[in-house]
Amino acid sequence: MTAQLIKGTDIREEILEEITKEVADIKEKHGQVPGLVTILVGENPASVSYVTLKGKTANRVGFKELQDNQDENISEADLLALIDKYNKDDSIHGILVQLPLPDHIDEKKILNAIDPDKDVDGFHPVNVGRLMIGGSEVKFPPCTPAGIQEMIVRGGVETSGAEVVVVGRSNIVGKPIANMMVQKGPGANSTVTIVHTRTKDLEGHCKRADVLIVAAGVPGLVKPEWIKPGACVIDVGVNRVGEKISEKTGKKVAILRGDVDFDAAKEIAGSITPVPGGVGPMTITMLMRNTLNSLKYQLGLME
Ligand code: NAP
Repeated sequence: MTAQLIKGTDIREEILEEITKEVADIKEKHGQVPGLVTILVGENPASVSYVTLKGKTANRVGFKELQDNQDENISEADLLALIDKYNKDDSIHGILVQLPLPDHIDEKKILNAIDPDKDVDGFHPVNVGRLMIGGSEVKFPPCTPAGIQEMIVRGGVETSGAEVVVVGRSNIVGKPIANMMVQKGPGANSTVTIVHTRTKDLEGHCKRADVLIVAAGVPGLVKPEWIKPGACVIDVGVNRVGEKISEKTGKKVAILRGDVDFDAAKEIAGSITPVPGGVGPMTITMLMRNTLNSLKYQLGLME
């Protein structure tokens, strides 16, 4: 069997098109566009390239986009004051503070200072609570889990009554996606198991999964014989396993591998996400959707 490929690169294009149309429509009817500010402290190269990509995507879909670069020596008090300024700015609907922050700044204090109604990353405890309650309480689902669920839905995978096994229990992927899949509603209604390093029979749990979501950060952790024939396999892992010269640019680029042995797994699974080009492109895409939704809440277009 060769599995259906669920490609994040294709789904991203579909969703960004939808967002672009909706932004133009809201601009015409209400004279407003979503505003997204990204605060970058210091010059960490990975953060700079991620923030640049966020900015480009925001511009592409017609948002007002601000990149606020701050010196790495900024004090915690000054950073808190900056967040307060954007909390009060009605033209800003989403505030992002790029992590990691320098050691002299308390990351938790900073993230908790963002107005939960502008927390488009969905990491504020209020939004974590809303996600746990589910249904119409949810305002901003965290972006990577939201992207995973979107891929499952757009990939036509049945989740109602399905056995979903999530490998990994991090706050940014494992726990939230498990919580989302167990809720009532479309793309959910599943029976969910979370496994981690203390789990006794990892292979046995994975073998039961109709939908296997792997977010461990261990290249090739999931072996092909752990996969139930016909299952949907979502590989969240992004692992740098070496470097190569890009044919396009002639520059050195990282060789990326997922947490699943893709070549063998695609012969057993019913559907599977590739790495790269799978879950990766979905995170920024869902950030754009959360920012659009933030404006829609403000305008009373969403409840
Ligand atoms: P994390 O915080 O390091 O958590 C990894 C989780 O996997 C932990 O709960 C850990 O268990 C579990 N785990 C690790 N090795 C295991 C093993 N051998 N057997 C069973 N469980 C194991 O990682 P994360 O932030 O969730 O990220 C996971 C992966 O997804 C990484 O490769 C990351 O780069 C990728 N990622 C991709 C995106 C994207 O594509 N947009 C976004 C976020 C993350 P314990 O809790 O017991 O230690």
